[in-house]
Amino acid sequence: NQMTANATTAKDKENAEVPVAKISVFVRVRPMIQKETTLDTAFACTETNPPSQVLVKEFTEKANDYLRHHRLKTRSYTFDEVFGPDSSQQAVYQSCAAPLIDHIAAGGNATCFCYGATGAGKTHTMLGTREAPGVMVLTLQEIFERLGGAHGQHKIKLSYLEIYCEQVRDLLATDYRRANGPSASAASGATTARGTRGSNAAGLSLRARDQSSARGGVESVSASGLSVHDVNSAKDVLDLLHLGNSRRRTESTRSNDASSRSHAILQCYIPVVMPDGRAKMTKLSLIDLAGSERALATEGRSVRSTEGANINKSLLALSSCIHALCEGKRHIPFRNSKLTQLLRDSLGGAAKTVMIANVSPCSTQIGETTNTLHWANRAKEIRSVQVEETQFPAWVGIGPQAALASQANGVEME
Ligand code: ADP
Ligand code: MG
Repeated sequence: NQMTANATTAKDKENAEVPVAKISVFVRVRPMIQKETTLDTAFACTETNPPSQVLVKEFTEKANDYLRHHRLKTRSYTFDEVFGPDSSQQAVYQSCAAPLIDHIAAGGNATCFCYGATGAGKTHTMLGTREAPGVMVLTLQEIFERLGGAHGQHKIKLSYLEIYCEQVRDLLATDYRRANGPSASAASGATTARGTRGSNAAGLSLRARDQSSARGGVESVSASGLSVHDVNSAKDVLDLLHLGNSRRRTESTRSNDASSRSHAILQCYIPVVMPDGRAKMTKLSLIDLAGSERALATEGRSVRSTEGANINKSLLALSSCIHALCEGKRHIPFRNSKLTQLLRDSLGGAAKTVMIANVSPCSTQIGETTNTLHWANRAKEIRSVQVEETQFPAWVGIGPQAALASQANGVEME
């Protein structure tokens, strides 16, 4: 059959042109917490079978003692690696984030984000506590150890921002109230932060830098007026993270609802010297996403029908982008939200992306767990659409083409 033959050829060709598996997907099942273990009808229904399998035991009726021993179905999912309730912060970091440092050392960009329902363990995984620091801290620590804090006069720089109700807030602004408070005036589009003197306003605006579009590249987007901080040690990082975190909506409003709707994004700009001696600025984004419950509840509906339904636009848009990337679509709807605009240069393309799906083991959360695992499973199939060249904001100090030859006394960047 001629038509079938042609179709097969076209399909093969398409597949050959689209490399698959650009995202590594991990799952972490947290321990049962006290409020779950003390609940009569609740028990652990999600288990890990290391190194890579997660098992979810499903029940048709509300769990009780009888059903506890009479499960109807066990669903199993396979990921790059799974982490059970006893896994340490260090183990999660080693498998998920440490490989990103190799990618950065080679001059690439990287992103690691945590996805999951509220209470599933995202913040614990990303930020952790002072006693048990999470991925953000451990990664930066290792970057300082392996890559040093600076090359020549170019240091590692950080920004920490929050997206809440589609407003971008600078969590590290020197004068946080003035910068982000309701009385602040709108950000002037011309303000670009230098050093720590970020002056900005309620909801920073995003600016695209699309010099590369003429070459078919992809623009990168940054928040104008976002403060950028030189860091010299892992301790500097820790201090900034704790400052930023104390300013998250979670903290300031003490509202569970607010906490579940805010995304925290740590952006790190890291100068590296590549094996051929050229210097390059790389970007690493570490992201604690908002709770996935709302986005998932509305997945599949049109954007219009979800308007006003109090859903998280950024999370829904991220979901759509991942969907489009999985299908190898040419058009990826990055423009639909603040989050996806900021992640444009870090999803698909040449960037290395790691997703950690966090789930609760508790039977009361089985709906959220199944949704999260389903979504994570789909994300494994992300295909690279095009190779992207990041356009860095001016304050980074070097352009895209930029990597200049190293000199005897250190490295110079344009
Ligand atoms: P999320 O950020 O996804 O809403 P959290 O990280 O705040 O969830 O976790 C919810 C609760 O579970 C917190 O009390 C946290 O300390 C606890 N928790 C989460 N993950 C773990 C873990 N791996 N080990 C121990 N406790 C955890
Ligand atoms: Mg959280």
